[in-house]
Amino acid sequence: MSENDGIAKVIEGYRHFSEEVYPEHRELFEQLRNKQNPQVLFITCADSRIDPSLITHTDPGDLFICRNIGNIVPAYGEMMGGVSAVVEYAVMALKVTDIIVCGHSDCGAMKAMRDPDAASLAAMPTVKSWLRNADAALGVVLAKYPNTSGDHMTRALIEENVLLQLQHLRTHPAVAAGIASGTVRLHAWIYNIGNGRVLVFDEAAQEFAPIEQVLGIESGKSQGSRHRGPAPEARPSTTIG
Ligand SMILES: [Zn+2]
Repeated sequence: MSENDGIAKVIEGYRHFSEEVYPEHRELFEQLRNKQNPQVLFITCADSRIDPSLITHTDPGDLFICRNIGNIVPAYGEMMGGVSAVVEYAVMALKVTDIIVCGHSDCGAMKAMRDPDAASLAAMPTVKSWLRNADAALGVVLAKYPNTSGDHMTRALIEENVLLQLQHLRTHPAVAAGIASGTVRLHAWIYNIGNGRVLVFDEAAQEFAPIEQVLGIESGKSQGSRHRGPAPEARPSTTIG
């Protein structure tokens, strides 16, 4: 492997897109030329193994996406920066109706929260500072499971962090107003990288459970005909929701 393999793969992928995929879906891209109308804000981790459009089987223009380490949303006023601006713009200007915070299995950020020394967090002051926005999740996990460690602790942190970030979202004025008026809904998701399944937080049961079970969706049926977007051959033949 040469050191250029990474960028070479990306450039070759772009070539395939511009020569094959774009022409097949020219109509969609032309519709999107001067406007976007996404209904969903999707907030997830920067982890390379997550592809929001792939796992939701959606097209360009469908998802407004915000990614960062640990799928974190700082509470309003804590860190007025990129994430807060995305949230405000999505709700006020784009008028998204749903906001998904999607954590994931094997999250490096949550493993670093569990074991800061092993993750060498001291050498990464910016990451360390950013992860303070998830400190309360660690507090909750240690209170609920005083003897937890290892993979169990990581899983608990992943879950509590997603719920914490939903709480943080509610502190943003635009979101609070949207929830109060019934125009914005929040969703807590956890994507399992190894098996491709999504768990969602079941408000009634107060636990994460398979999305099909919580929403009463039939699974395993192809809905490929709904797909309008690029590279259908690269997409799974079933959709979630
Ligand atoms: Zn992650």
